[in-house]
Amino acid sequence: MLANIRVVLVQTYHPGNIGASARAMKTMGLTDLVLVNPRCFPDTEASRLAAGAEDVIDSARVVTSLKEAVSDCVQVVGASARLRSLPLPHFDEPEAMARELVSHAASDPVALVFGRERFGLTNDEIRCCSHQVSIPANPDYGILNLAQAVQVLAYETLKAWRQRPESQYRQPRPAEERQPTREQLEHFHEHLGRVMRQSGFLTQPHARTETQLQALFARAQPSRKELSLLRGLLRSLEPDAPEPSDTGRS
Ligand code: SAH
Repeated sequence: MLANIRVVLVQTYHPGNIGASARAMKTMGLTDLVLVNPRCFPDTEASRLAAGAEDVIDSARVVTSLKEAVSDCVQVVGASARLRSLPLPHFDEPEAMARELVSHAASDPVALVFGRERFGLTNDEIRCCSHQVSIPANPDYGILNLAQAVQVLAYETLKAWRQRPESQYRQPRPAEERQPTREQLEHFHEHLGRVMRQSGFLTQPHARTETQLQALFARAQPSRKELSLLRGLLRSLEPDAPEPSDTGRS
């Protein structure tokens, strides 16, 4: 189950922080590390600070965008010390976040995303997430070092996994409750945008309507089955359109 829990570090500046994050992960039983455009990797400083966790470093995957890092995930939690204006569901308590993450990880990949040392995650990157989480801290000095933030959330994840309800041991989430992947959701929003433009509902290219609808569906958290129903509804509104490649079905 922990194998389904991925840690994503976005554009980390100091290779030492990658090593220390790998060590933090391994102490808590996490092994899946993905690096989005690290400044310097592989690097001796990363290996040095990984201490006994070089295996996590050695198997880390490097990708060029956050979207690519999380496209197969059903829940993507961006860690941020500051509240953003983007209306994504937000966890004030890492414990509550970890319980939910672990329950999804019983059947599908999920991710914890950490930002750059200097300026965290951009708004576009937050948009790739399904949720945000903040680690409660001193209001006057609440920003943790990157690897320490990884340690705290990895610890909460392990704790939630150890305390997971009996039902999660026995069987994964029923198919109708499984969440869509980020990629399936993206295809849905592309489809919705296409239909809204064809119908004449969307007339201005830069209107905020699509962003607002994305926020609405982020809060609603439709299951795969519900998303498939919505795709069917959209298809019925565009009878002449070619069959889309992704049907949104699970
Ligand atoms: N200067 C940056 C913070 C960088 S700290 C900023 O102002 O946003 C590096 C990363 O550690 C952050 O992007 C975040 O993912 C994580 N982090 C640090 N403190 C955190 C906190 N209190 N809660 C959640 N994540 C935190």
